Amino acid sequence: MPDRSGFETTVSHTGFTSFSCRFSGFDEATATLHVELIEQGRYGYPHWFEFEFDLDCLPMSPPDVITVSLGNAGASQYRNGWPGYRPYVERAKGWIRLDEGGTYQDGVFQFRVPLVGRRLRVAWYEPYDLNRMHRAVLGNAHEDTVRVTMEDDGFVCVEAGDPALPAVVLIARQHPGEVISSFFAEGLLDTLLAREGVGSEFFAQHSLVVIPIMNTGGVRRQLHRMDEAGIDYNRTWGERSAPTPVTRVRKLLEDGRSIRLFADIHGDEVSQVSYISYQFGRGTGDRDREPLTGFLSQLTDNCGHPVHVWETPSFARRFARALVRQRRLLIRPGLMADRYVARTLPCLSLTYELSAAEVTPDEAIRQGRRFATALAEMALHRVG
Ligand SMILES: [Zn+2]
Repeated sequence: MPDRSGFETTVSHTGFTSFSCRFSGFDEATATLHVELIEQGRYGYPHWFEFEFDLDCLPMSPPDVITVSLGNAGASQYRNGWPGYRPYVERAKGWIRLDEGGTYQDGVFQFRVPLVGRRLRVAWYEPYDLNRMHRAVLGNAHEDTVRVTMEDDGFVCVEAGDPALPAVVLIARQHPGEVISSFFAEGLLDTLLAREGVGSEFFAQHSLVVIPIMNTGGVRRQLHRMDEAGIDYNRTWGERSAPTPVTRVRKLLEDGRSIRLFADIHGDEVSQVSYISYQFGRGTGDRDREPLTGFLSQLTDNCGHPVHVWETPSFARRFARALVRQRRLLIRPGLMADRYVARTLPCLSLTYELSAAEVTPDEAIRQGRRFATALAEMALHRVG
């Protein structure tokens, strides 16, 4: 039933608990749990699912394997990501990825989960909530040079190093369901803020600003793309009345400090590869472009999971392409963070999309670490 904020929370006598899904039945003959995504209509872009099911509520003894059937999976804009996708399940020692991929047919996504214990908890990706983010941030805030700002809405901004030095600014989770980006941010923070390691090289040349979770309201509500008001943060960067977290970051970017690099981290629901789309902001000098280009090429090399890097096409090129393909989705209204920054500041501005299908949480943390190491190496070369 809808609660006061208009959201449905399903906690029912069936033993099913979720913000993102509703229970729609259990078929004893096939041991199939039928659920549906809630985020629709006004809230748009359903895809994230996360729920808990108490097996003691079954009218039968629990089977060895349960099939989960997501009845309205076809409502997702990212439905091409369902075939073969392997969701996550919680076990006694933590979350693991299912070995077997799901199937997608006639708008229904189904996957099988071997049952262990009396409780089933599954999710599209390993959850990463505000508590984990707070632990990750505070666990790294051991030096005087690390400043953590925490707002009432759970928004956390980590600043480190000498603010007079050019800043690297990284934001994640504009889209709350793209949890993979917070794992990446955690890997980056762990690496740069560690007591020993590459951090000293980085901080000799740069300062750092990281916001691991932008859309805290959407994260609390288990929404996939929007916030509680149905707003897509990453289309509001040009608006005066943008959501508060966006205005906070804009203010920070424009408070007079020098920005060398801006990175907006996302998760891609469909792509089988991770990719970086970058552009240099107006007025970026050649002296700055060279090390930044070297930094980008480091990210494609030396890793088990290839990351494709390309320059963001101009609006005119995207528009022409969309006309040719008649795929209106390519041109969505509203200004994205990376474009906003490139229009405003002379720095490297990039969007990093991690493939949810290919990149596990551990690998996302590793990619965050690698990003941090490449930043430190860029700083080292600037000295030399
Ligand atoms: Zn996104």
